[in-house]
Amino acid sequence: MRIVVIGAGVVGVAAAWALRRAGAEIIVVEAREGPALETSFANAGHLAVASGPWAAPDVPGKLLRWLGQEDAPLLVRLRWDPTLWRWGLRFLANCTARAHEENARAIGTLAQLSFNETIRLRGELAIADDVNREGVLTLYRDPRALAAAEKKRDRLAAQGIAAELLDRNGMVAREPALAAAADRYAGALFAADAETADCRAFTLALAAEAERRGVVFRFRTRVAEILVEGGRARGVALAGGERVAADAVVLAAGPWSVRLALRLGLRLPIYPGKGYSVTVPIAGRNGAPRHAVIDEADKVYVARFGERLRIAGTLELAGFDPTPSPARAAATLERLRRLFPDGGDYARAEHWTGLRPMTPDGRPLIGATSIRGLWLNTGHGPLGWTLACGSALLLASLLAGSPPPIDATPFAPSRF
Ligand SMILES: Cc1cc2nc3c(=O)[nH]c(=O)nc-3n(C[C@H](O)[C@H](O)[C@H](O)COP(=O)(O)OP(=O)(O)OC[C@H]3O[C@@H](n4cnc5c(N)ncnc54)[C@H](O)[C@@H]3O)c2cc1C
Repeated sequence: MRIVVIGAGVVGVAAAWALRRAGAEIIVVEAREGPALETSFANAGHLAVASGPWAAPDVPGKLLRWLGQEDAPLLVRLRWDPTLWRWGLRFLANCTARAHEENARAIGTLAQLSFNETIRLRGELAIADDVNREGVLTLYRDPRALAAAEKKRDRLAAQGIAAELLDRNGMVAREPALAAAADRYAGALFAADAETADCRAFTLALAAEAERRGVVFRFRTRVAEILVEGGRARGVALAGGERVAADAVVLAAGPWSVRLALRLGLRLPIYPGKGYSVTVPIAGRNGAPRHAVIDEADKVYVARFGERLRIAGTLELAGFDPTPSPARAAATLERLRRLFPDGGDYARAEHWTGLRPMTPDGRPLIGATSIRGLWLNTGHGPLGWTLACGSALLLASLLAGSPPPIDATPFAPSRF
């Protein structure tokens, strides 16, 4: 079987790997000059097994409160964009407690599968991705939020993830680099087994291994169109006019999947969610954390990759334009500096933005479409690194018609 995978982000590369392993002939077509140069380039690196979807009961209120505030953690640039409005209404419908719980459970199951597979692949292929196994501290400002985190701790325990609630002193004892910022926080939830690692480094290494095992990568090559004849996907047409024939096509082009699908009349419920990151060299500073840190209130995630410190997060719904807002970029850097005043060489900060492929319910789209031979593996939103390797296993089993490793129903594209 010959399969074309569109997109060499972490999701497309992981899929190519799993499909090759299952015995297929794979061609990956990627518009950029190498793997992981778009959204998988400089994300926060959290293998966030404990994270749920962004659509949550407290989000509608926050969105209203933050409207028009340029550096808000969540920002919607209101404008006449029917796609945004349609997507936004579906997103709001997923903010009920019940929907949130259901979505979190489905995502948690896929995340656990994915976490195990990521670790397995890292070991098997000796991938060096600056993994940090010191654990993750989720910080809470408000004592009520800290008390409410007990619920999260219990949910995690049910998932088999041990987490411990710490008061402010316990938090600083665990991570002394938080001392300067401690008076802004009531405490933290500490997950000892959580990991962070460099998504880009992992993707590059996996792509190199995949290539060694026969996967063909065509970089600097844009897919103009997915070819469909007789109701069946037959391959792709490239921007230069060349046609690449295939028995199946996997669309893993992140937020840009929407455009290719639309040409076939398929409306994917994905909207680009811009996020920001800032990376600084630690450069011998004494105040860099050993642990990864999440600030729930600011929606930012901090990770240490060897001698680099990165903060990433926030969400801006503003279409496909990747241009950073100077105010949001500056606020991201400032959040890192306030957390860890002596954490790195802030004069050498590298700024980045990426567009997350966001679905309204936070669950990716993995599986068959109404067009035979056209498969989706996209819409991983804020959790593409966490979910990529598990999604690849799920996709490969569905494509082969073998029993999936977890229930595939929550991720079926047909749910929309
Ligand atoms: C600020 C930020 C922080 C994040 N932090 C985390 C985190 O801590 N943990 C986590 O799990 N996730 C995180 N994410 C999310 C994660 O980065 C994404 O979910 C993931 O990178 C999506 O991967 P992808 O392969 O689907 O998309 P991409 O990496 O964008 O890959 C899609 C590829 O398709 C290619 N393409 C598009 N159109 C075409 C075409 N027509 N022809 C050929 N190629 C095409 C693009 O060039 C691109 O390379 C974060 C995201 C952001 C923005």
